[in-house]
Amino acid sequence: MTKSDASALSTDVSHIAPREKAEILSQALPYIRKYHGKTIVIKYGGNAMTDPALQQDFAEDVVLLKLVGLNPVVVHGGGPQIEELLGKLGKKGHFIQGMRVTDKETMDVVEWVLAGEVQQDVVGMINAAGGKAVGLTGRDGGMIRAKKLKVQDKDDPSKEHDIGQVGDIVSIDPSVVKALQDDQFIPVVSPIGFGEHNESYNINADVVAAKLATVLQAEKLLMLTNIRGVLDKEGQLLTELTPRRIDELVADGTISGGMIPKIAGAIDAAKSGVNAVHIIDGRVPHAMLLEILSDQAYGTMIRSK
Ligand code: ADP
Ligand code: MG
Repeated sequence: MTKSDASALSTDVSHIAPREKAEILSQALPYIRKYHGKTIVIKYGGNAMTDPALQQDFAEDVVLLKLVGLNPVVVHGGGPQIEELLGKLGKKGHFIQGMRVTDKETMDVVEWVLAGEVQQDVVGMINAAGGKAVGLTGRDGGMIRAKKLKVQDKDDPSKEHDIGQVGDIVSIDPSVVKALQDDQFIPVVSPIGFGEHNESYNINADVVAAKLATVLQAEKLLMLTNIRGVLDKEGQLLTELTPRRIDELVADGTISGGMIPKIAGAIDAAKSGVNAVHIIDGRVPHAMLLEILSDQAYGTMIRSK
């Protein structure tokens, strides 16, 4: 689906008769009842974040979920936006085993983009749609403690690479998120953690979303991305995956790149008691609403065993 197809789809409901609209709405009731008061963690990233019409759909969905009594928590990414600003600043990226070497200057850019730009865009969109979003980084409320991610050499395990301020989560204290939720606010979290010496760490947003879903004992973790879900070697959508099957797909290279931390986070969350973990297509208008408030299955569901 192209972006313009998606934008056109997102607003055109004129062909639906009022009777059918009422029917559709009433079918959401069992789901609203089931999820009332439950926490839903949403990882927002990829293409869905760069198309304005889809952004608006996303913000409206979040607000609607909050108003019908669910507790959405948004964790956003920002890879493409970071890439863009680094490019403008003429900073050449160095990568080791696919991970960006994050020196002090790069980390400054990461913080500007994530906490200054992307987070405030998401907060602004949700507020414009009638919600009360509050932006947080992992520093706020002492939420995300992190340490330097250790990267073993893929050929020589005795060798370690220094990739700078890329972080591994030590612990998450969700009390600030809980306080906001109880007060009608919608938390929007940037994936930045702090270390022992108050230094900042850039953490993969999928990993943050998964761990936050676990510590919040969320009912659902939804990872919105720029692809239909997890695909097999032939490009077919895999609607359900077990940890064992995932291991095979990673080992044979079918799952690669950005899907690796995403699927790893998804398995962790599923195994740690998050009831439903889904990787869904953020390019589909109202993908999140359809997933939560209908019996339609979308994308890939990750099983705990
Ligand atoms: P996001 O911004 O949503 O985190 P990423 O680019 O980090 O997006 O991760 C999603 C990407 O993972 C897809 O666009 C795709 O290019 C890649 N990918 C690698 N292996 C697979 C797979 N087996 N199925 C689906 N996507 C995959
Ligand atoms: Mg990613």
